[in-house]
Formats: sequence, structure tokens, C-alpha cells
Amino acid sequence: MKTQLLARILVASTLSLVTFLQLAGTITGHAAEPDPNTKVYWNGGKRGHIDGCPRLPKDTAELAKIPVKSYGEMTAGGAVLCSRCPGSSTQGKGKPGRKADAPQTPAVVYDPGTKVYVDALWFRVHAEDCPSLLLKERKRTLTLEEADKAGCRIGQSGQSGRENCCLQGYRRKRPEKKLSDDTILCGNNEKRNFKHIAGCHRYWPVRSDLRRPLKDWVADGFKVCPHCIERGPGLATITDEEWKKLGPPDNFVAPEGWVPKPYSADQLPPASEVDILIKETLSKGNAIQELPFTDPVACMEMFMGQRFFFPVTQWLNLYQAYRSTGDRHVFDMLLESARHYNRISMEYPAVAQLKASDPEGIPFMYSMAACARITLQLAKKHPDQVGANEIEEAETFLRTIISVLKPVCEGDGSLDPEMGIPRKLADDFRSRAYNRAMNGIGTLGMTVAALEDLQSLRKTKEYQPTIDRYRKVIREFLSNFFNEGHLCTKVAGRPMFVYPYNKGKIREVNGCPIFKRPEDGGHYSHTLQGLMLLYQATPELGIDDEFMTAVANAIYRSSTEKVPLGGKGKKAKGGKKETLSGHVECPTAAKVRPFGSLNDGHTYSPARERFYMLEAFRDGIIDAQCITLNAQQKEAANSDYDHRLATLFSHYMKALRKDRSLIHLREGTP
Ligand SMILES: [Zn+2]
Ligand SMILES: [Zn+2]
Ligand SMILES: [Zn+2]
Ligand SMILES: [Zn+2]
Repeated sequence: MKTQLLARILVASTLSLVTFLQLAGTITGHAAEPDPNTKVYWNGGKRGHIDGCPRLPKDTAELAKIPVKSYGEMTAGGAVLCSRCPGSSTQGKGKPGRKADAPQTPAVVYDPGTKVYVDALWFRVHAEDCPSLLLKERKRTLTLEEADKAGCRIGQSGQSGRENCCLQGYRRKRPEKKLSDDTILCGNNEKRNFKHIAGCHRYWPVRSDLRRPLKDWVADGFKVCPHCIERGPGLATITDEEWKKLGPPDNFVAPEGWVPKPYSADQLPPASEVDILIKETLSKGNAIQELPFTDPVACMEMFMGQRFFFPVTQWLNLYQAYRSTGDRHVFDMLLESARHYNRISMEYPAVAQLKASDPEGIPFMYSMAACARITLQLAKKHPDQVGANEIEEAETFLRTIISVLKPVCEGDGSLDPEMGIPRKLADDFRSRAYNRAMNGIGTLGMTVAALEDLQSLRKTKEYQPTIDRYRKVIREFLSNFFNEGHLCTKVAGRPMFVYPYNKGKIREVNGCPIFKRPEDGGHYSHTLQGLMLLYQATPELGIDDEFMTAVANAIYRSSTEKVPLGGKGKKAKGGKKETLSGHVECPTAAKVRPFGSLNDGHTYSPARERFYMLEAFRDGIIDAQCITLNAQQKEAANSDYDHRLATLFSHYMKALRKDRSLIHLREGTP
């Protein structure tokens, strides 16, 4: 394999730069601009549409509500066509190149001698007062002029460098430094994938990956990640020794003759199956998110860029696998992550506080809170199973969480008059999407329950003020969630809870709110992971049996009842008249304005395993999730690791409903 590759490099290396330029050309290539007189639909916002755009409403009455202008008028107003308009050159969200289309901020003159700080991960500089500037006491400085000359990205932040954090309006004098032929990119030997700079948010290196100069990859026909091109060069390195340790253990070997099969929703799988699932779980590792760069400042910059909020899949796996099996090795794997994030938080308290300054960042402490909670539950219920040192470690994690959250949750300086919690947090609760916040709130819930157990073990009331404050925070968050959401009682005996993705409703019909954008299935399933934590840790705050049943009913309805296609009952192509919605709506909304059938709506996706735990609150929900699949497809979907774990976890949830003190499913069995 390796020699073949080398041979190909030798043959093809002369092509390198040409190929790279061609590649770059296809990445940034723009379509011809429409004529200024072209008719556009534009409501004065940042994006408009031309005829044929799939984002335009199909319903003519809806379409008539959007003002018609000319393309010239629209662009003069600073707007561009949306990314899905026919022939549009605007890149969509998440696709590279968007900043090139953003209107430029007015030019500002800066003193060329202004001191700027050089990042450790990407070749970027920031001003002294930049909110994204981390650990400045540990950073090299340049003058603005020197940074410009060196080709640094100036005042850029975010995963692809699209955010302008400082030095706004600076007009550079020399071009930005781009990736070169010799830039080291990483990846495996498989064709048709992108090669990245280590640290790219689209890349998860494993120890078998190669590190080679860009020109060699390109000569072999590989492509360069467009995000890496957009973001520009990196500065961080990983030693060979650390590289050899990268990635999860990946050491699962299936027993001979074993074929994965779905677990039953009614009966527990045999112990031998559970043991296999445990091995599979362990082979996926501890999911520490940052790479082991030689410069720890680069690690912390990467940490700041990570998304922890849905939450990290493998942490959720470990958590659910522990609850479903009680396996000590699974707990220890989660503990590795907890120790890592505890250490980071103690070594870099200001960075940890910045990361946790809103509910999206709080779940970076998920494994810390989960381990503390489980340890203290065990210590209280089975004192013989837990050592004093383990209780101490749990307390350490909790103390760290408290110190990280102090600026966010505590302090009575500027309380929101309505919510009675710090104003910044209250404002956040009013604006942030629930799906992004819920796992942070769930992490707080686990922390509260763990602190209560700790107090009872230590026979103290030392943590009571913190517990009270966190409870207040959770309560206020939930009261906002309940108020904006809708507990629909249109179906007798089956209350359903639905909520908006975007804040706000359009109107009310028969007492049911019609949301501007109801939550879609995928995001609802992430929200549910946070609700699950609250159900387990702090049900008295409202996420109780009754509420979870209303969630289950809503999910059941949306996965089994079709809605008319094309807005107000219009026929779609091919004569299909109805479809399952990709959104979770109450019966009234599903009839009046079925969002999943509108152009911006998500299409339905079957077998979402993140909903499977709801089997504990409504029989048949796993089957309902698979209603569009035939027997073979269903078997295939439900045999994979994620679906087996999710099915097993639904058994834990069922058992927990009967015994609220149940720590894990194998408790009490030898
Ligand atoms: Zn469009
Ligand atoms: Zn900055
Ligand atoms: Zn990349
Ligand atoms: Zn309703």
C-alpha cells in the first residue's frame, strides 16, 4: 500500500501546483451575476430570492406577501441572493466562503504601531481588548504593521475565521498568507476525502493518519478542505509520540460468528450481548475533544472552538451505557474525560469561565457532573462500593464546576427584574435556541443533584446557597421553555408538548399557537438528551413523568401522522399529497401550517435513536420511529451500535420510572 502510494507521488508530483490552483478555482468559483433588472423577492433583509428558488413559498398567497424588487435594488440595499437561489454565488451557512459575500464594514484607520497578539493555533492576531483573545500573557506580540506584512489574519475568529472579533474595518496592505505547497496536511489514504490541517473542526485525526505536504496529497488527486483553505495556515504542532496515541482505542473485535441484531423493546438482551455492547462502547474512547498540541495555548484555543452542546456523542454513549450496565470500565472511561476537563478548568480558570459563560458552553463539564453524580449516588446508596478518595474526587469536580459557573450563575449585582437571576443569563434564556441550551441546563441539574447527595453524605449545608441558585436558574429557564412551548390537549388523554425552534408565534388557532418555526425532529432529539438529565436529577422542577409522557406523545404523533404536502393542501409533484413532517407539531399546527412540508422545513427522517428512550413513556415509540421502513430496513437500522444502546437505555428509563433510586440497570444483580 505504502510503496504504491510513493510511486504515485513520484509520477504525479509535477502536477501539484496546477492541480491545487484548479481545486481552489472550483472552490471559490462564482456563477455569472444576474442582470440588475431581474425580478427578486426581497423583504429588506440580508437575503433575497429569484424565481425558482426552493426557499420561496409554493403557495401563491404566501408568495404574494413578499415584496418584489429588482436585483439591482436589492444589491444596492446590501443584500445578496440566498445560497439556494438558482445560479446564486452566495455560499450557504456552514459552507466556506461566506465572509467574502458579507458587506464590508466601513474602513477604520489604525495606528500601524498598534500592539497585536499572535494566536497559537491559527495564524491570526488580535487587538489587546479583543473578547476572543485568550491567555494573552502567554502570547507573542507584533505591531499591526508587522502582522499585516507577515500575512496574519487580522481580527478573525471562529472555526473558519468568519467572525470579526476586533480591529473591525482594518484594510490590510498586503495579502493574507495562504496555504503553501509545503503546508502539512493530514488524513488517510482513502480517495475522495479532504485533507486538513490538524485542528480543523471537520477533522478527527487517528494515529494511522498520514502527515504529508499539501503538494504530495494534491499530486495523488486528493482535495484540500475548503475550511482549511479559508481559515489559512496553522501554527500548532503535534509530536510523533503524541500522534501515535491519537484517536479512540478502536480495539473492538467481534466474537466469531457474532452478527449484530436489534434489541427488543420489551425484553432485556442476554448478558452476553450486553458484554459485547460494553466492549464496543469502550473501543470508542473518552472523547476528549482537544488535540495534544505541543503548545498548550493552542489546545485552549481549540477548546474554545469546540461545540459541546448536543452533547458530545461519546459522552452521551458512556453515560447511557453506564446507566444501562453499571460497568466500571465504562465509568472509568467517562472519568478520564472528567479529569481532563477538571484539569483544564483549574489550570486555565479564565478560559473555562469564558467557555461556560452561556448554556452552550456549560456541557464541556458534562463528564465532570455525570461522574460526580454517579459516584455520590453510589456512595449514598451503597457506601461499601465507594472509597473516600472517590468521594473526594467527586467533590473536587463539583467545586470546580461551582468556581467556573460563579460569574455566570451567581452574584446579585445586576439581577434581571423578571427572572431574578443574573441579567446576562436571563437575556440568554430569552434568545438562545432551546436545543442549544438544554444540555447545559441538564448539566446544571446533574450538578444540583450531586451537591445534594454530597451535603447529605458530609452532613453539611455548605453548598445550600449554590444549590438554591442553580435551582432558580433551572426553574427560570424551564418556565420560559414551558411558557413559549405548548402543551396541547386537543387529543383526549394524550397531552403533547411542542415548542418553537425560533422564538415567536405567527398566530393562534383554536387556542394552539402556530409557531414561526416549530422545532424539527433532529433538534428536538438533542433537546431530549438534556430533558433526560433533568428528569433523572431534578424531576421536581417540572421535567417529570407527566412532562416526559407529553414529549413522547408529541414525538409519537409526528412520526405516525402524515401532514398535507406543499403548504395548504397543495399537491406536490408525482401526485403525492401527504408526507410525514420533519417537525414536531401539535395536531392544530400540523393541519393549519404543516411546517415540514414548507420549503424551509426539514424532511422526515426515520429511526432517530435519540428518541428511543421515550419507549419508557409510551409503548410502541420505537416501532413508530420505524414506520416508514420495511422489515429488512428496520432490522438493519436497529442493529447498529447507536440503536442497540438507545434501546437498552430505554429499559433503564422504564425501570427508573418504577424505582426512582435506581442507579443502573444491573444494580442488585451480582
Ligand atoms: Zn433563494
Ligand atoms: Zn480578535
Ligand atoms: Zn479542514
Ligand atoms: Zn395544539
